Amino acid sequence: SAAPAPQGPAPDPAAGRAVHAADRAHVFHSWSAQGQIDPLAVAGAEGSYFWDYEGNRYLDFASGLVFTNIGYQHPKVVAAVQEQAAQLCTFAPAFAIEARSEAARLIAERTPGDLDKIFFTNGGADAVEHALRMARVHTGRPKVLSTYRSYHGGTQQAINVTGDPRRWASDTGTAGTVHFDGPHLYRSPFWSRTEEQECARALEHLERTIQMEGPATVAAVILETVPGTAGIMMPPAGYLAGVRELCDRYGIVFILDEVMAGFGRTGTWFAADLYDVVPDLMTFAKGVNSGYVPLGGVAISQKIAETFDQRPYPGGLTYSGHPLACGAAVATLRTMAEEGIVEHAAHIGETVLGPGLRELAERHPSVGEVRGVGVFWALDLVRDRTTREPLVPYNASGKDNAPMAEFAAAAKRAGLWPFVNMNRTHVVPPCTITEAEAKEGLAALDEALSAADAHTAEAGGE
Ligand code: PMP
Repeated sequence: SAAPAPQGPAPDPAAGRAVHAADRAHVFHSWSAQGQIDPLAVAGAEGSYFWDYEGNRYLDFASGLVFTNIGYQHPKVVAAVQEQAAQLCTFAPAFAIEARSEAARLIAERTPGDLDKIFFTNGGADAVEHALRMARVHTGRPKVLSTYRSYHGGTQQAINVTGDPRRWASDTGTAGTVHFDGPHLYRSPFWSRTEEQECARALEHLERTIQMEGPATVAAVILETVPGTAGIMMPPAGYLAGVRELCDRYGIVFILDEVMAGFGRTGTWFAADLYDVVPDLMTFAKGVNSGYVPLGGVAISQKIAETFDQRPYPGGLTYSGHPLACGAAVATLRTMAEEGIVEHAAHIGETVLGPGLRELAERHPSVGEVRGVGVFWALDLVRDRTTREPLVPYNASGKDNAPMAEFAAAAKRAGLWPFVNMNRTHVVPPCTITEAEAKEGLAALDEALSAADAHTAEAGGE
């Protein structure tokens, strides 16, 4: 079972039961059938670990929801939030506030190209909402193109451009939103054999979509630089440059969503840096301050900023650029630079996670593909490596999802908190994870993958 927590207070199961009971009485949880969930009561967290009230400690290979890039309770960020709270907890967005202007300056300094103006939101979904609105007002065009294999947020427009099935229950149809197929060689619906073929296929398909929709009706193409929730699918070389070129040719705003991939996760400040591409708008959240206080935003290019130089931008939020959130961002970004955390994430990916995951794939027949970079990896789990049949059917629930549920339970018994989505597990620990911790996580994954192996064709399982 999971290792005991070395830090934190002594186990207190009774307190845990009280927290759990109050949660079940009054907290309405995201994305869940309320009667079917049993949330773990968490007593505390530090660095790469959190622990429950029973004394079980978990290595967090999910970084919460892929946001604690700097780990839990980093003392410099905690101190910055405390100092900001003592100095000025809150102030309306129309004023110039030190924490806000400094956060904007530090973000603009890191974002690629001329993305030098920052519009602040409270998280990722509202960043996507505002990026889309900026593109529509800037172009005067109605439609937005996005990929099926994507997640852009849980609010109305953001869930509409999202491709994954969580969209279905509240989908308003394609009004203003058109989905297309981005590149993904491992599961290419067109049986591309090489990354070059898949790249050409995807670009041709996107251009065809633009032409069929009518270029003068398309305001924006929005992509995750590296689609995260949908499976950490590294785009083939040349794809993003090709999209940039198509957007320029047809006067379309190019939006990169870096909510998950940004701020060190890929071992670079932004995933866009890996591909040397500069979008017109870039959304961010999560890693900007590791979620210590909710914050997101849109980094805006010169060209789009000019549109709103002499005419008002028709949008805003009461808590835009909240001082506590911005104070946390300033401390996070300074600390990441001072402590070389982005370079560390790249190093861990190259020397521990990449080689370690590939070694696991050699020994475990349930691993169909390993893909990723930095601290941003996915294992695509399959029943059969030859046919690539996923370990569980698309969007499976209940009994159909049992192999993934067994995998997750085995990981937790081994002291690892995994990120699981459909037939994949994502290895997305904090950027600050140490080499020893990463190795500990790989050993726990080794145990958990044996549970998945039992369901492969090779094992003769179901
Ligand atoms: N875009 C991407 C790429 C994301 O991964 C997420 C969150 N997982 C969002 C947008 C939405 O962010 P939030 O949950 O902060 O609204």
